[in-house]
This record gives sequence, C-alpha cells and structure tokens, in this order.
Amino acid sequence: MPEGHTIRRLADRHRELLGGQRVSASSPQGRFAAGAALISGEVLEETDAHGKHLLHRYGDDLTLHVHLGLYGKFTDGTGAPPPPVGEVRLRLATGDHWLDLRGPAACEVLAPPEVKALLGRLGADPLRDDADPDTAYVRLRRSTKPIAALLLDQSIVAGTGLIFVTEALFRAGLPPTMPGRALTPEAWREIWADLRALMRAAVEVGRIDTVHVAHTPEAMGRPPRMDRHGGEVYVYRRTGQPCLVCESPVRTAPLAGRNSYWCPTCQVSP
Ligand SMILES: [Zn+2]
Repeated sequence: MPEGHTIRRLADRHRELLGGQRVSASSPQGRFAAGAALISGEVLEETDAHGKHLLHRYGDDLTLHVHLGLYGKFTDGTGAPPPPVGEVRLRLATGDHWLDLRGPAACEVLAPPEVKALLGRLGADPLRDDADPDTAYVRLRRSTKPIAALLLDQSIVAGTGLIFVTEALFRAGLPPTMPGRALTPEAWREIWADLRALMRAAVEVGRIDTVHVAHTPEAMGRPPRMDRHGGEVYVYRRTGQPCLVCESPVRTAPLAGRNSYWCPTCQVSP
C-alpha cells in the first residue's frame, strides 16, 4: 500500500496539473457517476494529503476523498484524455491535462461535516506541520501492544506504512515487539523527528531511502538493493541478509497481521 509520501506527492501533482481550474469529471466505468456529476464543472480550489487520504477541495464546499488502498492508482497526461482503458473509476480533465483513477479503496464526495469526521479519526501525520505528536505519545504510552503495530495504527500516526515504521524502529535501536508503554518521551521525540525527516526526503525523491550516509552502496562498496519496493533500507524485506551495521542475519516474524523485520543485535529493548 502506498505510504504517506506517495499521497503527498499526488496532492502536489494534482494541484500543479489541475489546481485553480474548472474541471470536468466523469466515471467511465460508471461506479462513481453520481459523485463525478457533483464536482464536474467546479473549480479545484486546493489539494491536500492527510496520512494516506487524498483530498481535493472543490467550489461549493465539496471535497473529493480518495484512499488508494492496495490497488488504487492514478495516471495522468496532457491534452485530451485517451479512450478509457480498464476500470476507470474517476476521470478529471481540464483540456490541458487529465487524470484517471483506477481501483481505489475509497472514492467519494464529502460534505464539510464528513470531512471533519474523517480527519478526526486520523492521528498525527509526520508530513504535516499541524500534526500533534504529544497526543500520539499519550496513546502510545498507555498501550501494551507492540510499538510497530501502534505506529501502523492510522488513528495514532497517519501516513506511516510498514517501510517507514520498520526502518524508523531500526534507526532508533528498538525492537518492533517492544510494548508502547515502554517508549520513553526522549525515544518518541527521536522517532517522530526521524519519521518527519525520512518522509520528507521520500516526498522529494519519490522513493524510500532510510540508510545513513555510511551505509549507502557507494560508502560500503556493495551492490544497490534490488527490490520492486525500491530504496536503500536496513531491514525491511531483507530477511536472512546480513545487517548493514553488525552483519547479524535480519529476522522476520508476523506481528499484528503484518510482517515485521528487525536486527536481533541492533534492536534490543532498553
Ligand atoms: Zn545489526
């Protein structure tokens, strides 16, 4: 599933392509015909990302809400849109640019109270300046659940997915199984700052790199990582491979319905 940096990049791109313009909306596939009719002909006033949720604000207080889920994908282009290929849920076009949305988990038009309710369910987004890490910490600190599961809970921290959480815990030297209540305020401040830095960098380059300068392929004289998920990482999907810091084999285990990855030497409970 795309993590928060991907949604932020989409919000930025959609603003660049369609922002401030009157947009024609349709649903070639038909499933979103009624929603598309609501926003068609309105001006796209602003785009925004909250965690993994993409919002387009149109005139008349209408908000398009998209959650890509596992399979959702946007494509875009210039000029007139091509004949629709596949199941295009939503097509937006201005004449200069078009974009198509396929396979989202959510695609709906919301009124202001519904937007407020949606945002009220989301935790602190490290990519947002208005995020509140202190409230997140209160939630983390009062739970006995594993810290990795808590950091993936979008009602506590929004926008973080398995890669950012796995890697931030490696960089903090904490095992994914550590209970939330063992997290010190200092450790949380460090993790929060690290998530902000890692996610901002990912927005810039469009991929997730989490290794320090000393552990890049160039610095270590090793081949770059080959993985369809891209990016240079310490432990995510590196099961059995040597830790880049201490050479212990990276371990994996299921945790709260997801896989967790960690180095048994570098990540130990305090
Ligand atoms: Zn290690």
